Amino acid sequence: MAKEPDPTESVLAIDIGGTKIAIAVVAADGTITHEARVPTLRDQDADATFAPLADGIAEIISQPGLQGTALRVGIGSAGPIDSPGGWISPVNIPAWRQYPIVAKVAEAVRAATGAEPAVGLAQDGHCMALGEHWLGAGKDLHSMVGMVLSTGVGAGAVINDRLFGGLTGNAVLLGHISVNAWGEECVCGGHGCVEMYARGPAMVQAAKAAGWTGGDDAVALTAAARSGNEIARTVIDNGMRALAAGIAATATLLDVPDFVLGGGVSKAGEVIFEPLRRHIAEFATMSYVKDLRVRPAQLENAGLLGAAALALSL
Ligand SMILES: [Zn+2]
Repeated sequence: MAKEPDPTESVLAIDIGGTKIAIAVVAADGTITHEARVPTLRDQDADATFAPLADGIAEIISQPGLQGTALRVGIGSAGPIDSPGGWISPVNIPAWRQYPIVAKVAEAVRAATGAEPAVGLAQDGHCMALGEHWLGAGKDLHSMVGMVLSTGVGAGAVINDRLFGGLTGNAVLLGHISVNAWGEECVCGGHGCVEMYARGPAMVQAAKAAGWTGGDDAVALTAAARSGNEIARTVIDNGMRALAAGIAATATLLDVPDFVLGGGVSKAGEVIFEPLRRHIAEFATMSYVKDLRVRPAQLENAGLLGAAALALSL
């Protein structure tokens, strides 16, 4: 996106997650002026699952100043998605398979404002990258890759201040590039994907298999590593080696040396970043990526702000 949008415009940002959907009115400087959250329903049909979002949109647009306005709207969603086709099939929302979210949101916004909106759709990893590039750890960068390390590994690239979406909006799916061609089969059908080693639950499972009994999640695992537990340190070291190989491959492919890492697991800090940086030095060897830098993310709501950035770029 351009870094100097129209200062008087507000946009609508929607961040669709597996447990909740955030809806916000965001000013052109990134200030959130109104925000609402609705639950992501389970075990409902597709349109029943959409109903709380439609209600939330109507509610937030009833705030003063937005009626009669041709809003620009950005939607971020878990993948797979199809940006040009306007549909989503989020793995964690089974009711939505090739669900025409762009058309449905446009209809709800049109009903509330009386005007035809412009609606854009991007994958959640792409929105995180857009948000951090706009207002977070990458705001001084023109090109960067944003990554989310949590129960999965998401990513997106901003190149020359524009989102690099790919043909369908799924580019830079770093979690599912292979770093072990002889590895076991991944849930995606590939072999030896980054996510199989680096995602939080995979590291926890590997630690338990090696005899660690200190807990059930990545918070406990990273705490154990910080206090010197050898199994925890080894498992995290392995996971970060896989992520490092994926990051170096992505940097080498895109010719972009700046990365921003967010997500729940990354919040453990140096216990994650130290092994990650150490391993990156072994893989990022080409002259144009050997100074590869990974910064911690800064925003708590990068996905929502990235959806706003997407709207401003429409
Ligand atoms: Zn995979």
